[in-house]
Amino acid sequence: MLPFENMIDDYIEQTGNQVMYRVTPLFKDNNLVADGVLMEAYSVEDKGEGISFCVYCYNVQPNITIDYLTGYSSLSGEEQIKENNNETVYRTPTGKKYHFDTSCGGKNSFETTLEKAVSDGLTPCSKCAK
Ligand SMILES: [Zn+2]
Repeated sequence: MLPFENMIDDYIEQTGNQVMYRVTPLFKDNNLVADGVLMEAYSVEDKGEGISFCVYCYNVQPNITIDYLTGYSSLSGEEQIKENNNETVYRTPTGKKYHFDTSCGGKNSFETTLEKAVSDGLTPCSKCAK
């Protein structure tokens, strides 16, 4: 959106002309967040010679997943995996499971990362790490 807003801004500043400008958010179904916005602009005095466009801007950002239904956004794809792999889990020296609950694995449990646990061949505990 910003490049188009700046374009209008510059035009008005340079010419003193008026610009008709309309932004319409477009929602899919009952989503709380718009999928995107329709931006329309038309310069009045020169009948669109300076500014005349109609563009659709998708409501997306790199590496961010937006839940359009609720409005929550989160890291997506690789970013998400990276975050999860750094998560702390607990294991025992001989156990074949990793735990999220520090007390679940017993008193020999020690801290490790999810990434390390998985690469050591551990599987999630059925009680605390579903
Ligand atoms: Zn457990």
